[in-house]
Amino acid sequence: MEPTESPAPEAAVLRLAGAAGLDAAHRGLRIARYRSLLWHWVRRWFAPPHRSMFERLPSVPEKHVAVTFIGHASVLVRYSGAAICVDPMLGGWVGGARRAVEAGLAPADLDDVALILITHLHSDHFHAATLAQLPKSAMLVGPRGVAAAAAQFEFARVLELTPGTDLAFGDITIYAEPVRHGDDQVGGLSYVMRSVAGAPSVYVCGDSGYFSGFADIGARHAPDLACLPIGGFLPLSFRDRHMSPIDALVAFSDLRSRLLLPIHHGAFALSYEKLDEPLRLLRETATAYGLREHLLVMQPGQSQRIGAAAPTSEHVDEPHVDVHITGPFDTAFEGDTEEHSQHALVPQATST
Ligand SMILES: [Zn+2]
Ligand SMILES: [Zn+2]
Repeated sequence: MEPTESPAPEAAVLRLAGAAGLDAAHRGLRIARYRSLLWHWVRRWFAPPHRSMFERLPSVPEKHVAVTFIGHASVLVRYSGAAICVDPMLGGWVGGARRAVEAGLAPADLDDVALILITHLHSDHFHAATLAQLPKSAMLVGPRGVAAAAAQFEFARVLELTPGTDLAFGDITIYAEPVRHGDDQVGGLSYVMRSVAGAPSVYVCGDSGYFSGFADIGARHAPDLACLPIGGFLPLSFRDRHMSPIDALVAFSDLRSRLLLPIHHGAFALSYEKLDEPLRLLRETATAYGLREHLLVMQPGQSQRIGAAAPTSEHVDEPHVDVHITGPFDTAFEGDTEEHSQHALVPQATST
């Protein structure tokens, strides 16, 4: 795993690409695991979840996007004109697994959500009790089968998309992209959000194993921020439907993204790796490949505002938006004078 020289970081990661290279990279990995998932669940039943951050949501100026990690696979993406929630899940349980860390937002924080994107119908992504609490004025978008599953909630509009289709939503275009999540019957989607107003683009993948589709999405969109799942990969045979952190770093490289926000970790023990192992392995691998500064690790309830840098005369022809991290937040929160915790990319990236 440790590169002997210092090639360009992205090239180093790309050398792992391909099923054989990735399988080899996982051989001999030391990953702390639960001996009995059932025993872990039973112990967790009697342990209340840890507190989360519950920060106030930042304001979103033009040409910016604010991203909040709600916990597990739930992400709130706010552009200046639209709040979009992906896989909202505020519940305390997935089957017999109790949440280890509280969801980072309350239903009231989602009152202005205008668009709900569902990646697939597994209960940690399509969570009925949470959907029942979201504004009915919202539009709900998901893969095949979501209209029937969501009929009971009476959202203003429900739309089923298939990979390769898109949807204009105000200034934002939503592109439905494929995933590889086991059985084709699951029919999952991932989403690229692009702003015509020049704000950074965001890609969210709920559940997927590594597959060649990430390179295809990268070639067409090169999303500035990629929210990728990193948990649920042990035993390693689960990697066909849940990426490991190593898989996710290769996907990140394929996507040609600038920032990686890891999701689908830390909240529910749904597989055998211990809850804090995905993040540990992600940090370790990203450091080994010189990608640490590209990680945007957030705790549930934390937000990060990302702006598009104004192009300079030398870079005016650059095809991509240059992302710079504006945290610690450079402007005051509306109506708020208290200090906010700082979670800029750089301090995060240099901590252990
Ligand atoms: Zn799933
Ligand atoms: Zn999942």
